[in-house]
Amino acid sequence: MAIHFGNILITAKSGVFKLLLNSALCEKNGRIVFIGSKEEAIVKYKNDNIYDHNGSIILPGLIDLHTHLPQYRAIGIGKGTLLEWLEDYIFPEEEKFKNNKYARAIAKKFFCELVKHGTTTAVIFGPAQKDATDIAFQEAENAGIRLFMGKTIMDTGKTELTSSTKQNISDSLSLFEKWHERNDGLLNYIMLPRYAGSCSLEMMKNAADIAKANRLMIQTHIAENKEEMSYIANLYPEFNSYLDIYEKAGIIGENTQFVHCIYLTKKEIELLRQSGSSIIHCPVSNRYLQSGIMPLNDHLQEAIPVGLGSDIAAGYSFSVFNEAREAIESTKSYNIAHYKKNSPLPPEKALKMATIDAAKILGISKETGSLEVGKSADMLVLDINRIIDDLSKEDTPSLISKIIYRFQDAEIKSVYVRGKTVNDTE
Ligand SMILES: [Zn+2]
Repeated sequence: MAIHFGNILITAKSGVFKLLLNSALCEKNGRIVFIGSKEEAIVKYKNDNIYDHNGSIILPGLIDLHTHLPQYRAIGIGKGTLLEWLEDYIFPEEEKFKNNKYARAIAKKFFCELVKHGTTTAVIFGPAQKDATDIAFQEAENAGIRLFMGKTIMDTGKTELTSSTKQNISDSLSLFEKWHERNDGLLNYIMLPRYAGSCSLEMMKNAADIAKANRLMIQTHIAENKEEMSYIANLYPEFNSYLDIYEKAGIIGENTQFVHCIYLTKKEIELLRQSGSSIIHCPVSNRYLQSGIMPLNDHLQEAIPVGLGSDIAAGYSFSVFNEAREAIESTKSYNIAHYKKNSPLPPEKALKMATIDAAKILGISKETGSLEVGKSADMLVLDINRIIDDLSKEDTPSLISKIIYRFQDAEIKSVYVRGKTVNDTE
């Protein structure tokens, strides 16, 4: 129960961001009960503590729609493109999670990094080991973050990360039963078949069935890299396309998110759109592994929901602000590479993709994604003194643009999930 004073970035009814200068946001039991004038707040909630974030901006918490916890220690290393990088650096690192002590130490650090960067909700590919995923959930509960996490399931390939189809499915089910909707609903289980190259059709079908039966989200990778695509085409010669494999497995629809989507064909895009599935854009990762430039403008024009993912460790930054900036820059790179003159992604849209659009993709937009009365107080306090001289002279679009381009010169002071501070766990 608290009153927060500051400059509050709300979403107007029209869906447009609007900055309320020098205002108050009141929270009771983790829910926003009032946004408005300071004077009114003091009268209405006179017994509550006041937190004066004088000069700072209060923004909705950021939502990272795709990242890999067991890749934390592989950030910034490795050579080659996707397939070699996975074999040479990522699988060996993820194999270390059979050691529970290591798994716990990394999970702690990982959640600490997420919240420090202003992320209040994340979708996380957990370890491939059941015990390590269980440990990661324990640490997520301690961290107080909102997340969708699961065990990364794999039943094919040469790494010791694989286990039998049956084992993967029974492990996922028992973790789901133990953790889904725990910590007052902040923790959610999500089904995570790694990608068609690591999963049998049978396991993908089972995963899709579990997701459907229990109304869970399901997320996987698709069309990230040209070699990966030929590898998949050879592995599944009887299917018409990459997306066709997932569709036949039942991995498609409103509960489904496809990560990368750089090289989808027109037919696949149409199928994806009609099914109500979403796309997760990871521009930093796409460049780091030289995978390609996703045609973001084309996907948005098709009215496909698109959110952002840091994709640690192919992505090297935990910041969703950074991903928003790179999403804008990647539309420019796409224009350059393809001799196009499309408008770059507007910064306000990039911030929406990092907040409310992402919440819609996860089906939690009534709960989080924007600062509105009735929603959870998931928010961050940003000190912008170094980047803005006089807030009253700043229009909201240019303010958002400055934050996205200069977030490293701003300072995240506090991060709240359901009104509770989560960034002081170190
Ligand atoms: Zn990924």
